[in-house]
Amino acid sequence: MLKGKTALVTGSTSGIGLGIAEKLAAQGANIILNGFGDVEAPKASVMAAGQAHGIKVGYNGADMSKPAEIEALFAYAQAEFGGIDILVNNAGIQFVANVENFPIEKWDAIIAINLSSAFHTMRLAVPGMRAKNWGRIINLASAHGLVASAGKSAYVAAKHGLLGLTKAVALETATTGVTVNAICPGWVLTPLVQKQIDDRAAKEGISVDQAKKELLGEKQPSLQFVTPEQLGDLAVFMCSPGADNVRGVAWNVDGGWVAQ
Ligand code: NAD
Repeated sequence: MLKGKTALVTGSTSGIGLGIAEKLAAQGANIILNGFGDVEAPKASVMAAGQAHGIKVGYNGADMSKPAEIEALFAYAQAEFGGIDILVNNAGIQFVANVENFPIEKWDAIIAINLSSAFHTMRLAVPGMRAKNWGRIINLASAHGLVASAGKSAYVAAKHGLLGLTKAVALETATTGVTVNAICPGWVLTPLVQKQIDDRAAKEGISVDQAKKELLGEKQPSLQFVTPEQLGDLAVFMCSPGADNVRGVAWNVDGGWVAQ
């Protein structure tokens, strides 16, 4: 379905981004990976997912908190892939503290990576998508884009902001073949959440398993983690012709979190 298209997935060396990259690759899209840490294993798994289609997989290690590096990433995408058809803004970080104790540098980093990076990637991607009259932009927000939790002021502010940004750009492109939408996951068991589970187990003196159960029980009525594969399947749908008029939505995949 996506043969000949190129998808940039930010923060795709791990977790949700990697799951989405694999699903887009399985549909035949070329993939540009981005993120920190080991690159070879994610590259190999994405390559394997798209093997039947002979896809091309690239990597650029831009730090998404740095506008100049994001511009260099787009120059790389243009030179190596002829531009970007599908943009998945997924890179994100978390930090938990009450507002009066929130480190200023953590606030700045969360806003830069979880929100401002999407402004930069969209301002750079939209002209090429408009020119082709086809494009898909998928922003990974969160249940925390729709509702708040204590201790997560920066994350909640960034994710609420990302939903506003999604709607604004969806309206700007509404008469074109470019769609802009957001996915709002509940708990997904990735390194970002594992850290919160480990912190909780240590703080309360309980087992990691118990901490997992408590985390789900508090927020997620399904009592099951959402998986990167499920989010990847939704991203594939958003790239399909069936989603041509899905515009500006915040689609929660959260086991019932925000239905409460
Ligand atoms: P993760 O920690 O597994 O992956 C984050 C990815 O972002 C990694 O590839 C990391 O290298 C990359 N990254 C971090 N800082 C970066 C930077 N400055 N520049 C470039 N890449 C950077 O996390 P995840 O759980 O897969 O989260 C992915 C997205 O989904 C985030 O935006 C997160 O807020 C969102 N999300 C996660 C959950 C969850 O429960 N895990 C729930 C809702 C939303």
